[in-house]
Amino acid sequence: MYDVIIVGGGPAGITAGIYCQRANLKTVVFEKETIGGQIASSPLVKNFPGFKSISGVELANNFYEQAEELGLPIEIEEVLEIIPGETNKVITDCDSYEARAVIVATGAKYRLLGLPNEENLIGRGISFCTSCDGSFYKGKDVAVIGGANTAVTNALYMSNLCPKVYLIYRGNKLKCEKVLLDSLKEKDNIEIIYNANVKEIIGKDELESIVLDNDRKIDIAGMFISIGMDAQTNLVKDLLPLSEQNYVLSEDCSTIKSSIFVAGDCRHKTIRQLTTAMSDGAVAASFAIKYLENNQ
Ligand SMILES: Cc1cc2nc3c(=O)[nH]c(=O)nc-3n(C[C@H](O)[C@H](O)[C@H](O)COP(=O)(O)OP(=O)(O)OC[C@H]3O[C@@H](n4cnc5c(N)ncnc54)[C@H](O)[C@@H]3O)c2cc1C
Repeated sequence: MYDVIIVGGGPAGITAGIYCQRANLKTVVFEKETIGGQIASSPLVKNFPGFKSISGVELANNFYEQAEELGLPIEIEEVLEIIPGETNKVITDCDSYEARAVIVATGAKYRLLGLPNEENLIGRGISFCTSCDGSFYKGKDVAVIGGANTAVTNALYMSNLCPKVYLIYRGNKLKCEKVLLDSLKEKDNIEIIYNANVKEIIGKDELESIVLDNDRKIDIAGMFISIGMDAQTNLVKDLLPLSEQNYVLSEDCSTIKSSIFVAGDCRHKTIRQLTTAMSDGAVAASFAIKYLENNQ
């Protein structure tokens, strides 16, 4: 029997694991794919305090080494079901386990356009987050794909760094707040292209250009895909209340189940970054530690 099982080995889950392990609790992290989570696919991180510049893979390796040094086990197993009870049953694709507390840190995934060459160029011209990667494209032309608040916010952000920003939207009317529309009107370096989809992504080692379904070819150094994220919360959809976008609703990382906690990008919140995921991991772990102290 574990004291704490953590589902997800991204920044939130690993942080929670470090806190629980250091509190001397019998802890395990289950990760289904990549230790480090989303950040492992980032070529360069420049907004993480303490590291002026570090690749996502190196950061993920550091997570792993720190966990290993502390004796925190990270198992490559997918959690398929959590059955709550006096002790929680956690079923993975390998085995079945019991834990007095569970921390759900299953993250989220950026939506892709579904085109050939797309995954290959992530981090080499294709990005999702302007506050993470925007400065890499300073002085170069970029495109933002999407038409809702995030896309328009990203286009406005990039317009302060780039000579030209193409905002490419499949619809004929942007779906963003009026204040953003007003800000757009003040920008003369944002060209909005309506009723268009990207049909081809060109570039071998780095993004060079895109072709739209109206056959227009646009040369760009960067493309920010801003068509939303998918919360990885299928596992808890019948267990915990979810927002309309399927994120776990929790004000403070506790949930309606007293022994189940939630942390990181899978939680309903406004900013999804390393620092906020790790903050959640620390908070969820601290609540789990307190819960276990009070329920010996
Ligand atoms: C390309 C890219 C670049 C980025 N760059 C930056 C940056 O420069 N700075 C910054 O602050 N942020 C950046 N981010 C965002 C940052 O990576 C995320 O905010 C952060 O990783 C969220 O951490 P998390 O642990 O909540 O979720 P995730 O990183 O999504 O980790 C969740 C983990 O849970 C696992 N999991 C899901 N379901 C299960 C299951 N059923 N069983 C077992 N495991 C499961 C997943 O495989 C995943 O590894 C970037 C994101 C991407 C994609």
